[in-house]
Amino acid sequence: MKTVIFREHGGIEKLEYTDVPDPKISADEVLVRVRACALNHLDIWVRQGLGIPVELPHIGGSDIAGEIVEIGEYVTGFRMGQRVLLAPMHFCNHCAKCVAGLQNQCPEFTVRGYAVDGGNCELIAVPPVNVIPFPDKLDFIQAASVPLVFLTAWHMLVGRAGIRQGQTVLVLGGGSGVGIAAIQIAKLFHATVITTAGDETKLEKARALGADHGINHYKQKISEEVRRITNNAGVDIVVEHVGAATWEESMKSLKPAGTLVTCGATTGSSAGFDLRFLFSRQLSLLGSYMGTMGELYEVLGHVFAGRVKPVVDRTFPLKEARAAHEYMEASQMFGKVVLTP
Ligand SMILES: [Zn+2]
Repeated sequence: MKTVIFREHGGIEKLEYTDVPDPKISADEVLVRVRACALNHLDIWVRQGLGIPVELPHIGGSDIAGEIVEIGEYVTGFRMGQRVLLAPMHFCNHCAKCVAGLQNQCPEFTVRGYAVDGGNCELIAVPPVNVIPFPDKLDFIQAASVPLVFLTAWHMLVGRAGIRQGQTVLVLGGGSGVGIAAIQIAKLFHATVITTAGDETKLEKARALGADHGINHYKQKISEEVRRITNNAGVDIVVEHVGAATWEESMKSLKPAGTLVTCGATTGSSAGFDLRFLFSRQLSLLGSYMGTMGELYEVLGHVFAGRVKPVVDRTFPLKEARAAHEYMEASQMFGKVVLTP
């Protein structure tokens, strides 16, 4: 099959469009023909070698949609040709955390395409627990655009921050994958949503998704604008993933007893703050990583019902993976960048 691999870490020139042997499924696996695989910033970091060490050569790509082309003899409940998306994670499925439904706390947990190979290829063998059929109204490209960012945003807002109806939520980077999902999920809870972006076009698109207020983070100071918008109250929840560049502004935007939840550090992983500010304002700082299978089914229910929508920026053929990575690194997109074999 065709695949995009890298044999060593580095720039986009390390991505190689090449042939590898077709995967063989075991009796308890399903073979899926990949029809679309959405990119995430994670793909760039893994290629650059910025995360945990991965086995090389490596196939990236976390968000996969395709059709079932082979079913292992021990697997039931699926049919050939079925259109499915894949839960973008790997877990053991039998430890105490997994059986408690807390897959993202499993000792073996990793994101698909990170410590295990992903879907930048034509065929992928996966356990049936990862395989989720999706309705006809979504095409493969839309389906591939959902799992990682919607699960991440759902776990942040619902699983970790415990969002309640009518709260005020600041979503950093409203044009990012997580931002696009978080805005829509917060609106499911009738939240007042303030979001940030680097240009007016992205802010306009974020408003179209439901954001009530937009802040241009290049022209305006985030915490000052939040104070102005909220009549000095601040927000209940900040959805962070930008990291060093915005951390201080994010903390300053919280109301007393507010919650900052973070899933990323795109602009840098070191941030400092005054402990007196943390305790005297009784703030909560929460880390969040992906989510559980239960949460994935929960948010997919909203996607399948059309209450929240995947946003696709553009697609590239798999063989143009380098151009797709380059496009992502330039941060010009609003929504998902998707590779199609
Ligand atoms: Zn486990």
